[in-house]
Amino acid sequence: MYSQESIESLKKSLRAGAPKSGPRYVYVFPVSVCNLECNFCPQFAVTEDDAQDKGLEPFYEVGNKLPDDVLLRALDEIFDLGPVKEVLFVGGEPLLHKSLDRFIARVKERSKETFTAVFTGGVLLGRWNERLLKSGVDMISVSINAATEETFLKVNPKKKPGTFGEIVRAIGELNELRSGGGPALRLSTVITKDTVLEAREFARFAKEKRASIVSFMPLMRYSNEKNEGAFDHLIPSEADFAEFSSEVASLRADAERAGLCIEVPGTASKTGCLDTAAYYSKSPCLVGYAVTLIGADGGVYPCCSARKSIGNLHEKSFTEIWRGPAYNGFRDEALLLPTGHKIDDVWCHECQDYEINSRLNDLLH
Ligand code: SF4
Repeated sequence: MYSQESIESLKKSLRAGAPKSGPRYVYVFPVSVCNLECNFCPQFAVTEDDAQDKGLEPFYEVGNKLPDDVLLRALDEIFDLGPVKEVLFVGGEPLLHKSLDRFIARVKERSKETFTAVFTGGVLLGRWNERLLKSGVDMISVSINAATEETFLKVNPKKKPGTFGEIVRAIGELNELRSGGGPALRLSTVITKDTVLEAREFARFAKEKRASIVSFMPLMRYSNEKNEGAFDHLIPSEADFAEFSSEVASLRADAERAGLCIEVPGTASKTGCLDTAAYYSKSPCLVGYAVTLIGADGGVYPCCSARKSIGNLHEKSFTEIWRGPAYNGFRDEALLLPTGHKIDDVWCHECQDYEINSRLNDLLH
């Protein structure tokens, strides 16, 4: 993933306390809203009404949408700064942005080698399939969270029956369109008390739908002073998570033979919740040199678990923000995590960039 040259560049950047190149991993949130209301969802993807009902604090101002010119300019600047390994379009529901395919195409115009992926709930997939295929996107990841309508409605109690079927039909249409080649398909599910015992069923479903990657995502608790414990009722029991873990181990052996990759990203607690506190008590965070996130509000965030932006693209260029003192300050703070340092407004104990950090730390040490 990293050439010797880029490892050396990363080492030089670390010595200088400032990046010599641009971010290699870019997350884009084209909109801040979602058309699903999954019961485990963090604040930033719930609808405005729901956020108000629950008294949750929106992650970004609800309803934001990145203007085309702002994002296209930022993407161009990022490619001018250096090679980019991945650009991932996440959300909220990225298919709610009408220019999504234009953004993906721009990435591909700048670099065919840059991996692009769209992470969607799938409700609008049927309307988007053809445009996504034309855009050249490398992977479509559908966060369907269920292998059956019954489980889907437990995860999405406010959705009408039939939504699951619509998503499954859209996946079938995608498969017809990509039968001559096209993006990889990934299906993902968050591990909650509703889904924890369905690992085998979900893997079978994914295989039937011709996915090449199945992802079981650890539950995030998103606890802070405002919504402490808001998602705790979804935590699986230790016994159920132990059963899930042994099921996944046996699935992995079969899946490899069938060409299916089974992922469980992050480090999970005994009950399947994302828990990275122990890792960062020993290892620094290096994402300030490798990752950036562009929010729907135009904010540039240092990582997926940061709740405050470092600068805003409506006020400054991406390059100014990336090379500015505030970003360098974040980079310095992130290196101090093993000393017990806490970064304001960043949830390092539930770090969604753990995988990138652990790969970078392994490469450097
Ligand atoms: S959550 Fe903390 S450890 Fe994770 S990427 Fe962000 S700053 Fe680094």
